[in-house]
Amino acid sequence: MSRTAAPKANTAAPLVIVGASYAGTQLAASARELGFDAPIVLLGEERHAPYQRPPLSKGLLTGKTSVDTLALRGPDFFTDNAIDLQTGRRAVSLDAAARTLRLDDGATLRYGSLALATGARCRTLPVSGADLAGVHNLRTLDDALGISDALGSASRACVIGGGFIGLEVASALAARGAAVTVVESQERLLARSFPALMSNYLAGAHRQRGVDLVLGRGVRALTGEADRVQHVELDDGSRIGCDMVVLGIGVTPNVELARQAGIACDNGILTDALGRSSAPGVIAVGDVANTTLPAMPGGPTRMRLESIQAANDGARAAASALAGKPQPFDGVPWFWSDQHALKLQMAGLPQPGDEAVLRGDMQTDRFSLFYLRDGVLVAAHSVNRPAEHMHSRKLIAARTRIDPRLLQDASVDLKSIPRSSP
Ligand code: ADP
Repeated sequence: MSRTAAPKANTAAPLVIVGASYAGTQLAASARELGFDAPIVLLGEERHAPYQRPPLSKGLLTGKTSVDTLALRGPDFFTDNAIDLQTGRRAVSLDAAARTLRLDDGATLRYGSLALATGARCRTLPVSGADLAGVHNLRTLDDALGISDALGSASRACVIGGGFIGLEVASALAARGAAVTVVESQERLLARSFPALMSNYLAGAHRQRGVDLVLGRGVRALTGEADRVQHVELDDGSRIGCDMVVLGIGVTPNVELARQAGIACDNGILTDALGRSSAPGVIAVGDVANTTLPAMPGGPTRMRLESIQAANDGARAAASALAGKPQPFDGVPWFWSDQHALKLQMAGLPQPGDEAVLRGDMQTDRFSLFYLRDGVLVAAHSVNRPAEHMHSRKLIAARTRIDPRLLQDASVDLKSIPRSSP
């Protein structure tokens, strides 16, 4: 009588991933693609399975995107790849020496490797009235659904913060017919990411489309009646009337688990180019990781990036190390943002002092702004120029030295510029 052996269960201690958004999900997916065969447990504190986030500040608010199209992976992905997705479970403490993680329901998980993909949370506005009804944050699907619902009965919205989230929300709320004011404490929009030329262009673009901008003003208080917000009071004493407020004043990384376990943190969890933290067996990926990018112009650079691209590429690099085939990310960071009908695409990170070269006409909302450092292309910002964005990413990664006159001349095809090392 012949007997078929039952498949051997893999009894290795699992890879436990805390955080089930882009970085956590990509880490699990890439680990499997690369042949990692220990059990994988993916913990998410939200009740939803992993979902796409860009539509939360765009299509979900305008109504162009429906909730049931947001799943990050298809329905069978997790079972097909033996990834044990557990939603609604929150890790509350970590013992990195014992390799155990405690969850909010009292359960203790033992791990072989641990990935902290805990992301970031919205900064809170430290003024009175910030807890009034009608004041919203935007980070999660539930936050976005709350804003969308509130819009049904609101005609005037005040967005606090003129960064990417604030400006995307302002565009979406304006598209839904609300009268929108953006309050930004810096003298210009997106000062963290853009030089003045781009900030000023965007300010003009928003104003032309009916968004009111108040720049260089702090918020002193939010006030209202019956616990509902009605005014945003500025530091010059003026008041903006509103039915709802959306805060877009940046995020802070969720480092508590790491810090409590004694793992080195400084604006995020410090990691090497393969996501490894100071604790053996613990990696960090995504918005929470302050990681080393080996291929930046000027040499390896440490930074904490808040983007899907960085989450995915960082997770792929970390997975490669887990699978024993270490391969750091060797490209440059890139990002995108949709505001009104403007598709902004950004490659590389310009610095003050870079030479800015304009290709196209800003007035037509179709142009690219290239940044040269010592004659080498290091960054590009494109508006409604997707092909130029894609090509500039390749030129930047190859550290191409370019004559600015070629970049400026729209009749010169970027593809004809040879990629080269300086
Ligand atoms: P995000 O990418 O989440 O939008 P950023 O950090 O890029 O985050 O943008 C946040 C913006 O909010 C910055 O332009 C910052 O100057 C602005 N900001 C921060 N605090 C305040 C505040 N109290 N009032 C108005 N603007 C603020």
